[in-house]
Amino acid sequence: MVACTLSDLPDIPPVATELPCDPEEIERIGNRFGSWTDVNGKQQFHGGIDFCPYEGKTATFYAIADGTVATVNTDTKLGLDGDKGAINYRIEIAISKHVKVDYHFEVGVDEITRKPITLEEVKANILVKKGQTVKAGDQIGIIPYYEGGSHVHFSVHDEKYGGETPEMPSPLSYFEPSVAEKLKAMDVLWEN
Ligand SMILES: [Zn+2]
Repeated sequence: MVACTLSDLPDIPPVATELPCDPEEIERIGNRFGSWTDVNGKQQFHGGIDFCPYEGKTATFYAIADGTVATVNTDTKLGLDGDKGAINYRIEIAISKHVKVDYHFEVGVDEITRKPITLEEVKANILVKKGQTVKAGDQIGIIPYYEGGSHVHFSVHDEKYGGETPEMPSPLSYFEPSVAEKLKAMDVLWEN
């Protein structure tokens, strides 16, 4: 493991060459990236792509480009069932000085036992350490299925947009075109 600092990273992010997950392990896209008008006529925005594992299975997530692990948070207290004691976790990979790839593992609570994942399991599901250098395609983390809503919220943050705002570009724009097509194909599967 080679530690490196964010200042060693390039100014411009490299083009992402690897999918964040294996389409074979993803049952559906829970929520797509983008803006829409809800049933009450209110404008909504979702800043990432939600990848849901199959019932009873796990899905592994991967670095999409070379980078450095900037964040490992073993209990964000946010997202799915965050208000019901869920233990959700986050990994962020910095791929340039100002761009981070964010994976929020929203496990939720078990649909039968109503219990969250344990901290031991969380630690076992996080395959990288803060400060570690990763290569495109390296395994970084695993999400288990706990309920129908379990998913990884995958997004790409450029500091200049100040978080997940409607001005941010789609995560697809960071990928090599043939890889972006594969991601789009997953989206189409979900639509049909
Ligand atoms: Zn999401």
